[in-house]
Amino acid sequence: MEQKKLLAALPSVDEILKSPEGERWLGRYPRRVVLQGIRDIVQSERDAILAKERRVLEKTDLLAAMDSRITELCSCSLKNAINATGVVIHTNLGRSVLPDSVMKHVVDIASGYSNLEYDLEKGMRGKRYSHVQRIINEITGAESSVIVNNNAAAVFVSLTALAKGKEVIVSRGELVEIGGSFRIPDVMSASGATLREVGTTNKTHLRDYENAINENTALLLKVHQSNFRMVGFTETPSVEDLVALGRKHNIPVMFDLGSGCLIDMKPYGIHIELTVQEVVRAGADLVTFSGDKLLGGPQGGVIVGNMKLIDIIAKNQLMRAVRVDKMTLAAFEATLHLYLDEERAKTEIPTLRMLFMKPEAIRKRAQRIASQLKKSLPADEATVRIVKDASQSGGGALSEILFDTFAVSIVPQKMTVNTLEAKLRRQRPPVIARIKDGALLLDARTVLDKDIPLLVTGVANALTA
Ligand SMILES: *Cc1c(COP(=O)(O)O)cnc(C)c1O
Repeated sequence: MEQKKLLAALPSVDEILKSPEGERWLGRYPRRVVLQGIRDIVQSERDAILAKERRVLEKTDLLAAMDSRITELCSCSLKNAINATGVVIHTNLGRSVLPDSVMKHVVDIASGYSNLEYDLEKGMRGKRYSHVQRIINEITGAESSVIVNNNAAAVFVSLTALAKGKEVIVSRGELVEIGGSFRIPDVMSASGATLREVGTTNKTHLRDYENAINENTALLLKVHQSNFRMVGFTETPSVEDLVALGRKHNIPVMFDLGSGCLIDMKPYGIHIELTVQEVVRAGADLVTFSGDKLLGGPQGGVIVGNMKLIDIIAKNQLMRAVRVDKMTLAAFEATLHLYLDEERAKTEIPTLRMLFMKPEAIRKRAQRIASQLKKSLPADEATVRIVKDASQSGGGALSEILFDTFAVSIVPQKMTVNTLEAKLRRQRPPVIARIKDGALLLDARTVLDKDIPLLVTGVANALTA
């Protein structure tokens, strides 16, 4: 009986449309969206009444729920988020943040026509890859280069073009899975190449490669272990040794470098990452790497190396399927320009800036966040303090290195820390944080300065509303 009454009391869609709110919505949003928003909320209210699962909403709450549903339906699903995880190259959060100067160029190019595939000298069709080739070659020291949609595509197209129907020798210690289902053995079989595993998980010797070489060998492939490390009783030949072996048998050596660092990190005490330049100098015939990992640019896959091999790859049919668009090319070229001056790259490319940020500067940022947060919160709402912690690079790079960092630690008094974490994800913009030892941590390393006010509002909202 009670249920029937409640159901009958629910407003009709027409009624709502004729209310002042309904008229306001119709003035601002497309009619179909307004109708959808109203229907969604009426339906969920009807379900709630039938299930007796929660308190029935008052009219004003009902209208507020419709208002936020309509706004949600009108906004894009892909939206900015605040990365408070401290993981700089966070694949789930979009990997690298692009520099402002790069974005300006992307907007310029994308909002007008361009010489994307037009040779302005000759007045005829040009090559889309030409725009980045010279600068990639200059920075990496490679003879030639080509760029595709991502590094997975770079590896796939290279294997297809050079090793289809032939054998590729890879160490058993490098048969990696990168995540998101990129597995070397699977990529290999999809390309039509035959994987020839050599060595063992922990030790592969140069002679293992040499013993496996036969007249059907197309490539010696080395793969960066990226997201894991082997320690202890391990061995693997250097790039130089592998190159010497390849030369001796006239077989090209390819290195899937993964992250693709262009900056020497030894001055920062990081000795494990070979730069692209070092691998090129060591004589690798082909090197592939990502654009949006340590390089700090847009998603893309770069293939650099021997001109003859690059030409073969560039002519493969698959290139059309993995080609980059003008926005990627614009972003790539502008990012690489920053690398012409390494100091500039380190300060202007957000990925590098965040990675190399001094702990003291991170602590200051954490303090700024904490003090603004304390000002906007009643004192009994949460315990807020600064804690020392460690952040990770992410993106399959520098996986065992922990970077000293500072985080704002929040222990809520009136809800669990898990509830707070979930509420933060529903803020606008969403705040992605992590939980450690019963506290919510906001790692200041990856919080962009321009986002601090939004972060503070979001956290205050989540704690109080
Ligand atoms: C990340 C990575 C890939 C995949 O690169 P994407 O740009 O994400 O496609 C391939 N190989 C290695 C070794 C990697 O680290």
